[in-house]
Amino acid sequence: MSTNHESSPAPLPPEGAPDSATGAAAAPAGAAAPAGAVAPAGGVPQRAAEDVALGLTLTVCNGAADGQCRFALPVPSALPGRIRGAVRASGWPAFLAGRLSGPARHHDRFSVAVAACANGCSRPHVADVGLLRAHRPEADPDLCTGCGGCAAACPEGAVRLGPQGPRLDADLCLGCGRCAAACAQRALDAGLRGWRVLVGGRLGRHPRLADELEGLRTEREALETLAAALRLVMAGHRPGLRLADLLREAGPGGVDPRSGTIPRSGTAGARREGGR
Ligand code: SF4
Ligand code: SF4
Ligand code: SF4
Repeated sequence: MSTNHESSPAPLPPEGAPDSATGAAAAPAGAAAPAGAVAPAGGVPQRAAEDVALGLTLTVCNGAADGQCRFALPVPSALPGRIRGAVRASGWPAFLAGRLSGPARHHDRFSVAVAACANGCSRPHVADVGLLRAHRPEADPDLCTGCGGCAAACPEGAVRLGPQGPRLDADLCLGCGRCAAACAQRALDAGLRGWRVLVGGRLGRHPRLADELEGLRTEREALETLAAALRLVMAGHRPGLRLADLLREAGPGGVDPRSGTIPRSGTAGARREGGR
């Protein structure tokens, strides 16, 4: 079972705040791409040359890149840098370079996709590791007026109104946070915020949608999962092999913890926190 809770609230850094790990400031909304960045179709800046050197394909949705999407949940602007840092620290770039005679081609690289909401525009479901920002709201009956706006806003039909206010069906809820955004009383601001983590998606000749790990994870847990996935890929590396193939070979019992366990449940620790 997933715990999904931490003992004390730990809010995400506000937009524009320096990142505690890197000191990097958040890009203001609508900011131009940094020098050297490539803006592909869709307008998401990609640091292509750096990512090729890392053996990485990192795709970040517009909402996660600069908040320029009405559905975007807050995502720390330093996250792409921390993903690159985790890839670098894993030893993957040097490992891959040692296996190749030239620059890493697209299918050689490990793919990571980040989306700021459940819509998944960056295609996390077909990446080796996908991160989807999520908020699973919790109602405060003292604030709720029973107006029903949250139920009307939920695309999944996951909100049922009762005498104690809205109840959210955990089996239907995708954590998009639209119900909370629709509540003028801010009665749904509490609840769990974190990352839905998907592993083992791929396209190509044998496409496969990623498996979603249980619960929501903190950013640190999500990055640990990324590192574990890279360890697994390095331990079982064969040309053309992807994480999807290794997970399929490992079966439902999981993988060797010495080479990188990817837990499907039990370690989630998303934050219980207030505020948007
Ligand atoms: S995934 Fe969500 S936040 Fe990101 S661009 Fe798509 S709709 Fe916007
Ligand atoms: S939108 Fe807010 S106030 Fe209205 S029913 Fe939902 S939780 Fe209550
Ligand atoms: S978070 Fe999204 S899916 Fe879940 S209840 Fe709210 S609106 Fe519906």
